[in-house]
Amino acid sequence: MDYSELLLVKPGSKVKLGEIDPNFTAKHENKASAQDQLDKYTQKLRELQYLLYAEGKRSLLICLQALDAAGKDGTINHVLGNMNPQGTRVHGFKVPSKEEAARDFLWRIHRETPAKGEVVIFNRSHYEDVLVVRVHNMVPKDVWSKRFDLINDFEKNLVDNGTHILKFFLHISPEEQLRRFKQRIDDPARHWKISESDYAERECWDDYTRAYEDVLRETSTKHAPWFVIPANHKWFRNLAVSRIVAETLESLGMSFPEPTVDIADVKRKYHQAELEEEAILNGKKEKNKKGKKDKRPADDAKPADLPQDGESREDIAEEAVEQE
Ligand code: AMP
Ligand code: MG
Repeated sequence: MDYSELLLVKPGSKVKLGEIDPNFTAKHENKASAQDQLDKYTQKLRELQYLLYAEGKRSLLICLQALDAAGKDGTINHVLGNMNPQGTRVHGFKVPSKEEAARDFLWRIHRETPAKGEVVIFNRSHYEDVLVVRVHNMVPKDVWSKRFDLINDFEKNLVDNGTHILKFFLHISPEEQLRRFKQRIDDPARHWKISESDYAERECWDDYTRAYEDVLRETSTKHAPWFVIPANHKWFRNLAVSRIVAETLESLGMSFPEPTVDIADVKRKYHQAELEEEAILNGKKEKNKKGKKDKRPADDAKPADLPQDGESREDIAEEAVEQE
């Protein structure tokens, strides 16, 4: 089954996170058995992001939310790490600065939304204003509870202006979280990631669960859906997110923009010497073929925009970017 359907929070539906298995891996037994799929969607992501950038007509916003150590950083590394840095951006939302706190909660968010052609990932987002803010009573209930409608309207406005929105909640178990905290303790290269508040926040697990369940019910909409990603297994998390992102981008039916110049004309004007060389070479090849009386179809007459020997589509895409 399509992950976009399987992991989707249907608009208006009530989600019980306790009933969703964070160890779920669909039909895959282990990472090795999912490797082909991982490679396939990783490659697709790269090609589709290039197309989105080239087309420059619409954008993609990915919101990542999760409890500590659920893998937001790893997911970003996997998804964006396979895209071209030109045309992609990550923005992490921390405790609001004085300047940010003096405005409405969406002010700092709106400024970071993607421009046409861009893919932006939010590492935490406006949803913190109905999660951490609610769990720690930073504003009264009648303030945060009104934010669901404000968020839905805000996202609708982005969508109406050409942004596609995908929202992922990375779902881990409390046991897996503690295991990952311990790994951080054991690895000096990850000590910088540890904060006291990580352990304090664990105490609020049930409050966060309740707050997330409300977020999923109130704000999973047709235009900006939520997906609950079983995330105890990092490889499945990466596969599920990249597949949903790739399939969404694929469904947009994007195409390269029409050239702004007359290609034949440019060829004639600036590549006359190469054209003549090609014509001579082609003439020689024809002659050889006739000489050999080879009955096989002429497979060496490849159009210029298809990969030639030893050249992948990726090389062509890279070359095109380099030339910009
Ligand atoms: P990290 O993502 O681990 O770097 O931590 C960022 C911290 O900022 C987390 O503890 C978030 O809960 C907190 N944070 C993000 N947005 C808000 C917000 N709107 N209000 C209060 N705290 C926030
Ligand atoms: Mg943290």
